[in-house]
Amino acid sequence: MKELVFATNNAHKVAEIAARLDGAFHILTLREMECEEELPEEQETLEGNALQKAQYIWDAYGRNCFADDTGLEIPALNGEPGVYSARYAGPEKNSEANMNKVLSKLNNISDRTARFRTSIALIIEGKARFFEGEVQGHILTDRQGGAGFGYDPIFQPVGASRSFAEMSTEEKNALSHRGKAVDQLVAYLKNLPR
Ligand code: IMP
Repeated sequence: MKELVFATNNAHKVAEIAARLDGAFHILTLREMECEEELPEEQETLEGNALQKAQYIWDAYGRNCFADDTGLEIPALNGEPGVYSARYAGPEKNSEANMNKVLSKLNNISDRTARFRTSIALIIEGKARFFEGEVQGHILTDRQGGAGFGYDPIFQPVGASRSFAEMSTEEKNALSHRGKAVDQLVAYLKNLPR
């Protein structure tokens, strides 16, 4: 079976995509490759960071691979937290502090629209391709729900009456930025000649 490295150690993300590939590829994580170093993410765009991580693996190991990067983009905050979503309130990457910062910056601002966007960079035999997914929604005034992670308790997608943190994983994946980007990646990979 063909192998593909997913430049992450997030077991959740790996399981989600492996399940959808129906065995067309064997997905390897960084840990399985004994890649212990933290991958560089120094770019100013999601695409740039996804590509930087995938390129790092291709350059260091010569393996076909992909990497993802996600951000929450809020127009009223000039697109913040965007590429800095994980460390918006500081290097500790604390979700509670990040949500507090968003809620306090939006205090008294009526435009609470927001979107999540995911970029995936895939490198096959040295050639890069990108896949993207996004979901529009708005920032709630208070946290709602206890599922999910990151900004889920304060993000409600368009057309839903609950936050991402009030949905099951399946419900969220069907609507989410990452779910849509993964859909495209999976469709592409399944169409590659075996
Ligand atoms: P990553 O690129 O997937 O590591 O995402 C960067 C940051 O964006 C995370 O640390 C979270 O704060 C936030 N984030 C990414 N995906 C989601 C999501 O599905 N729900 C809520 N927050 C997310």
